[in-house]
Amino acid sequence: MLSPVPKSIRFTNCVVYTPWRIEDSVVFTDKVLQVGGSLKADVELDLSGAIVAPAFIDSHVHMSSSAFKLATIDLQGKSKREVLKHLKTAKPAFSGWVYARGWDESFWSKKQYLKPDEIENQNPVLAVRVDGHIGVLNRKAIELAQSMGINVTTDGIVMEHELTRLVSQITKEFDLNEWLLKAQSECLKLGVTTVCDIESDEFLSYYLRSPPKIRVVFSPIGLTKRAWKTGEVITSKLFIGFTKLFADGSIGARTAAVSFGYRDQSGNPTLFYSDSQLESLYKESLSRGMEVMTHAIGDLAVQQVVRVSRKFQNRRLRIEHNELVLPEELEAQEVNLVCGMQPNFLQWSYPGGLYEKRLGEHILSRNNHFKCLLEQGAVVAFGSDSMPLDPVYGIKLALNAPNPKQRLTLKEAIRCYTYNSAYANHLEAQLGSIEVGKTADLVILDSQSLHVLQTYFEGVKVYSTETI
Ligand SMILES: [Zn+2]
Repeated sequence: MLSPVPKSIRFTNCVVYTPWRIEDSVVFTDKVLQVGGSLKADVELDLSGAIVAPAFIDSHVHMSSSAFKLATIDLQGKSKREVLKHLKTAKPAFSGWVYARGWDESFWSKKQYLKPDEIENQNPVLAVRVDGHIGVLNRKAIELAQSMGINVTTDGIVMEHELTRLVSQITKEFDLNEWLLKAQSECLKLGVTTVCDIESDEFLSYYLRSPPKIRVVFSPIGLTKRAWKTGEVITSKLFIGFTKLFADGSIGARTAAVSFGYRDQSGNPTLFYSDSQLESLYKESLSRGMEVMTHAIGDLAVQQVVRVSRKFQNRRLRIEHNELVLPEELEAQEVNLVCGMQPNFLQWSYPGGLYEKRLGEHILSRNNHFKCLLEQGAVVAFGSDSMPLDPVYGIKLALNAPNPKQRLTLKEAIRCYTYNSAYANHLEAQLGSIEVGKTADLVILDSQSLHVLQTYFEGVKVYSTETI
């Protein structure tokens, strides 16, 4: 914390996105006192034209993955040659294993997964793909994983549940807390003061051991046996969120349920549940007081979640990802859902990118329809899915979407990452907009580069660059 006691502060010479309208000043203590107007304050700061927005709320993260990303070898954005070089020299840090994450073959010229024999290292190596759904092992690791009873394919790939089992075994001794706190500091650096964190329910113990520096809406994967209720306050910065369900898998792993199949190889586009099974899960969760958020990427999964959700009116049900666009009449029905979506996924929507490679050219205009959904009145709440956790990166992609019809204005993109995310997490009464009486969680952005210059949490400056 850079300044412990919040005095009243007035920002002037700035562009305040409330985000509904633009103002030229804001006065705040731990709460917002005035937006626009001439109220005096203890401290007056001239922001030289910078943007002031509500601090970002990332409505879909996996802090475990963000923490691991800091602790493990980060392969994201690297060429295949760089990936192999990193893996060759990497030292084992997890029970004798080398654990690396983030490779993405969709950016490589030969768009093929890593192969076991390409990974030259004496130690067992697990290299997890950027989506977190599959990992590739080297020969040494295949032997060891099989001796642990893990299912490995003939290509040295470990998928989904088996991958989770392997990761939990090799990270058993690893103290995640230190890295989890570092990942939270990273959030503040990126202008994020609140996250909806989707984890296994035991993960809550990490937050109880080291109280979070940011607000965490903790959302357990699957129906939890614990007597938690949505909105329940665990500590001042820790709340219970939603039951996270999965209707299908991912495009990267070819397990997203798409009606038109996969172009490059035969995938397994199946729904994880029948409608009635999914409906019972909703009923069970809602009857226990837990609202539901459901992962749905392929069009078949999106249609299923729309169908099932229609049976539960007056709920703030969430559909997560909602990537592939439906026929128009169905898309309109998503208006009744909160659409938790990832602008950073547009990184795969360029010609030659992952979407085209896996699903064909037709998908380039039929993914991530943020603009259409907003125009129809849907609540589009942005989140990063920790790929990477960086709202400004996502906002820039939303402003420059490969499909020009889907490009958002800065005001819209900020609203999706602030007010709409607050709404998705039932926090809109306190957070997500700069209005009198609301919590003063603010971010200051460079007006040209949108680079985060400062972050305020409840009126306290918690991050600042040198340049302001
Ligand atoms: Zn996720």
